[in-house]
Amino acid sequence: MQDMTPLTTLALDKGDWLNLVYLFAAVLFYLGLKMLSSVKTARRGNLVSALGMLVAIAATFFVISDGEAISLVWIGIALLIGAVAGLILAVRVPMTGMPEMVALLNGCGGIASLLVACGDYLKTSDADLALLPGNTLMAIGLATLIGGLTFTGSLVAYAKLAGSKFIPDAPVQFAGQKALIAVLLIGGLVLSGYMIAQPGFGFGLILIAILALALGVLLVIGIGGADMPVVIALLNSYSGIAASMAGFVLGNFALIITGALVGASGIILTNIMCKAMNRSLMNVLFGGVGGAVAGGKGGPQGEARSFSIEDAAIVLDAARTVIIVPGYGMAVAQAQHAVKEFAQQLESRSIDVKYAIHPVAGRMPGHMNVLLAEADVPYEQLQDLEQINPQFEQADVALVIGANDVTNPAARHDTTSPIYGMPILDVDKARTVFVIKRSMNPGFAGIQNELYFKENTGMVFGDAKKVVSELSAELAAN
Ligand code: NDP
Repeated sequence: MQDMTPLTTLALDKGDWLNLVYLFAAVLFYLGLKMLSSVKTARRGNLVSALGMLVAIAATFFVISDGEAISLVWIGIALLIGAVAGLILAVRVPMTGMPEMVALLNGCGGIASLLVACGDYLKTSDADLALLPGNTLMAIGLATLIGGLTFTGSLVAYAKLAGSKFIPDAPVQFAGQKALIAVLLIGGLVLSGYMIAQPGFGFGLILIAILALALGVLLVIGIGGADMPVVIALLNSYSGIAASMAGFVLGNFALIITGALVGASGIILTNIMCKAMNRSLMNVLFGGVGGAVAGGKGGPQGEARSFSIEDAAIVLDAARTVIIVPGYGMAVAQAQHAVKEFAQQLESRSIDVKYAIHPVAGRMPGHMNVLLAEADVPYEQLQDLEQINPQFEQADVALVIGANDVTNPAARHDTTSPIYGMPILDVDKARTVFVIKRSMNPGFAGIQNELYFKENTGMVFGDAKKVVSELSAELAAN
C-alpha cells in the first residue's frame, strides 16, 4: 500500500532550510573549484565560488537576525573591517606579491578557527561542557591545535617571502628540532584527546594553543624561503582542516564542507608541486633545501657563447617557429608585457609563437600563467610540459627568458644532480637556444645548467625586460 504520510510531518524547520541553503552554497563552491582548474573558466569559477560565499553569509545572517543571541552590530562592524581590508589588499597587491597575501589569508583563517573554538569553549558553562559529545570536545582541541600552528606558520612564511630582516630566508635548523616538533605535535594531540575525558580542563586548551603557536614557528622556520610556495599550499590545507574542525564545534555544515574542500584542494596542490619538483613532501619540510647556494660549483663547466642583441635578432628574424620559455627571471624583471610585444613583433613576420609553461617555473604554482594572462597573452598559446616537449625538435628557436632549473638537461640523465628526475622542458632539442639572463649564476636549485655549454645555445646577457625590449626594437628596425 502506498505510504500516506501527511505532508505536514515533512515540513522543514528553520534549521533544515538553513542546511539546504548551505548545501546549495557548497555545490557552488564545488563548481567554482572545478572551473578554476582551467584558464578558460577560472574567472567564472571565482565568481561562482564568491556567490556561494554570499549565499552562505546571507543565510547565516537571516538566521541570526531571527532571534539568535549574537549582536548584528558587532558582526556588521567585523564584516565592514574585513571587506575594506580585503578590497584594499586585492587592489594594491601586485601579482608577484600573491604568495605573501595568500600566506596572510591562511594565517587569518587559522587564528579565526582557534578563536572560534576557544570562544565557544569559554562561553559554555562547566555543566554544559560535561554534556558535550566527545567529538565536539576533540574538535575544539584540534581546531585550536591546527588553527594555531597555521597562524604562526603562515606568519613565518610571510616574513620569509617578504624578505623580513627578523626572519632569515635560509632554513633555520638545529639539533633535536624534529624531535621537538614531534613532542609538541604528540603533546597537542594527547591534550586534545584528554579534553574528552576532562571537559572542564580549560588550562589544557591554553596549553594546546601555546604548543600550536610554537609548533607553527618550528615547522616553517626550518624551510628555505624559496620553498615557501609549497609550504603555503600546505598551510592553506591546514587552514581548511582547522575551519572544518571549527565547523564541527559550531555545528555549521557550510563551514565543515568548505573547510574540507580547502583542506583537500590544498593537499592536492602541495602534492602536484612536490611531484613537479621531483621532491617528497618530507624533503620540502625537513630537507633544509635553499640554504647555502652552491654557486654553480661542481657542475658542468665550459665555454658559454655570448650573443649580441643584433646577432640574436638576425637568427630570430629567420625563424619560422619560436618557443618562448619563461621562468622566474621574467617575473623578477616584470618582463611579461615586453614579452607579449616581442611575440607580436615575431607574429607580424609570420613566425609561429608558442609559450612553454613548466608547472614549477617561477616561485608559485601558475606563476607564469598569471603573469602572461596579466599581459593578455592568448591562453591558446600557452602549452604545458607534455604538450610542448615533443614540439621542441621542430622549433627553430627556443627563447629561454629567465628560466634555469626547468630547462636543465641534467635532470634527465645526471643521477647525482639535485634535480635528477624532475620533468624538464626539452629546450636543448630546438635548433637554436637563446638564454636571456643577467649572469652565469645558478637558479633556485643552486646548480649550473649544462644547457649553457651546449653547441646550439647562445647566451644573451642582461635584464629580461631590457633584452626583450631591445630585441623587439631591433626586429622592428629591420
Ligand atoms: P630558476 O630559479 O631556476 O632560475 C631563474 C633564473 O632567472 C636565474 O638563473 C637568474 O639568473 C635569472 N634571473 C633573475 N632575475 C633576472 C632578471 N631580472 N632578468 C633576467 N634573468 C633573471 O627559475 P625557474 O623558473 O627555471 O625554476 C623555478 C625553480 O624554483 C625550480 O627549481 C623550482 O623547483 C623552484 N620552485 C618553484 C616553485 C613554484 O611553485 N613555481 C615553488 C618552490 C620552488 P641571473 O641571476 O644570472 O639573472
